[in-house]
Amino acid sequence: MYRNRPQQGRYYGGTGDPYSRQGRGMGTGRFKLMLIIGLAMFAFQAFKYFTNTQLNPVTGENQRVQWSPEEEVQLGLQSKPQMAQQHGGFHPDQRAQDYLDKVGQRLVQSSIAAKSGYPYDFHLLVDDRTVNAFALPGGQCFITAALFNKLENEDQLAGVIGHEIGHVIERHGAERMAKSGFIQGIIQSVMIGSGGDHSIAQIANVVGNYANMKYGRDQELESDKWGIQLMIDAGYNPEELIGVMDILEESSGGSRTPEWQSSHPSPENRRQNIRNLIEQYKK
Ligand SMILES: [Zn+2]
Repeated sequence: MYRNRPQQGRYYGGTGDPYSRQGRGMGTGRFKLMLIIGLAMFAFQAFKYFTNTQLNPVTGENQRVQWSPEEEVQLGLQSKPQMAQQHGGFHPDQRAQDYLDKVGQRLVQSSIAAKSGYPYDFHLLVDDRTVNAFALPGGQCFITAALFNKLENEDQLAGVIGHEIGHVIERHGAERMAKSGFIQGIIQSVMIGSGGDHSIAQIANVVGNYANMKYGRDQELESDKWGIQLMIDAGYNPEELIGVMDILEESSGGSRTPEWQSSHPSPENRRQNIRNLIEQYKK
């Protein structure tokens, strides 16, 4: 996928070790100078660390996400066609698309999700074999026909979409991608217009692959919590999210379901977590 492997080193470019062994045995004056340089470098790194932290307007948390929400939106829009293509393209049934959009917008407009400022968009994909739903950074949400057709009612659809909106609000995709210096590097090099050998298509591919990967256990449970909260705010029955877990469990035998991975955390854990959360919201 990356023909220009040697470039990788560029992005992991070392910052140098200010307390290098080479310094041993040198004069005090020089040592002091090295120490000052070292401290300056440390201060710079610390400055970078703190300035890369952003306040999430919805959750009130400080996050180490290195892109602005506008950049996330841009990344998501650029990756959208490629993601759709990986799942057979956008579904031609316009009525189903409109219905999905209606449910998605109802969740956003009736809840705090509207405050996040992302231009949410919801897409039904042709793929009728992969039971899956996922979201790109910046608000592009997708569900495959395979999962869409298995859902028994609108509340369950709201649960799936609400969970994906949760990933967007929490900026999980951006957080995960920010952890990789290499990906960070190629994306930024394109964003500042010095893309070199990296094309938009490559970036879309990288972002897309990330969107299709599993999130961590905590991130899944966090998004389930959002799913429940958005369902309640929009007047849907949150108990139906438990039914979605049953559907996922049943369909995990055959097809791959990377985002809605059944083993991590297990549907049983998620069901229990959902029941506990619903109890909390009732109080
Ligand atoms: Zn998820």
